Amino acid sequence: MKRAIVLTYHCIGTPKNSVRLPGLYVTSKMFAFQMYYLKTFGYNVVRLNDILAFSLEQPSNSKLVAITFDDGFKSFLEFAFPILDKYKFPATVFLVSSLAGKHNAWDSDYVNEIRELMDWDDINFLKEKAIDFGAHSKTHPDLPKLSESDLETEIRGSKDDIESKLSIPIDFFCYPYGSYDDKVTASVKRAGFKAAFTTKKGYVRTGDKPYEFNRMSIKLNTGPIAFSYKLLL
Ligand SMILES: [Zn+2]
Repeated sequence: MKRAIVLTYHCIGTPKNSVRLPGLYVTSKMFAFQMYYLKTFGYNVVRLNDILAFSLEQPSNSKLVAITFDDGFKSFLEFAFPILDKYKFPATVFLVSSLAGKHNAWDSDYVNEIRELMDWDDINFLKEKAIDFGAHSKTHPDLPKLSESDLETEIRGSKDDIESKLSIPIDFFCYPYGSYDDKVTASVKRAGFKAAFTTKKGYVRTGDKPYEFNRMSIKLNTGPIAFSYKLLL
């Protein structure tokens, strides 16, 4: 196979009518179908380390897919984890480290909804269940707008926070709002992350830049046919 896929999810559940950007939700029913689809059609659901190895030159005979969740919402624990666990699929959750146990302070006004974020007990429980974690900054700012020293605090700081809480290395970063520039990628590299993920739509191919990996976003309106198209490898 010449390419691999990293899927992006945010909230699992049914959005209330009052929510702005309902597209960031995927219903649990659709999520269950999507995982069933991956299983049934023989996809090899792997960890981000395997995606990185593939991009660095390891060809694969199987259809590689990784599953990622941005922000660390409580809905991951409630709705996504039980389904992932049923299939023993690995997944990575990108955490906003200063807000664990709190809520989506960065956009609650804009989306018109307070969404609970997992606390460290939830995160530690999931770590024991083989869920992986990555960093998504400390407070979810628009990184290119920050000074050099604030960048460092947000990026390296989030790695330090999660590593000290979980006692495992945190190797992957995901840009808040998918927003980055050369200064931001340099700071991610300096902090010691092995790779970083964007919101740019596309596949991962051998030779891709490891600090600018594409992903495929799965949304509320991604029906079964659209999902199967996104999964063509
Ligand atoms: Zn985010």
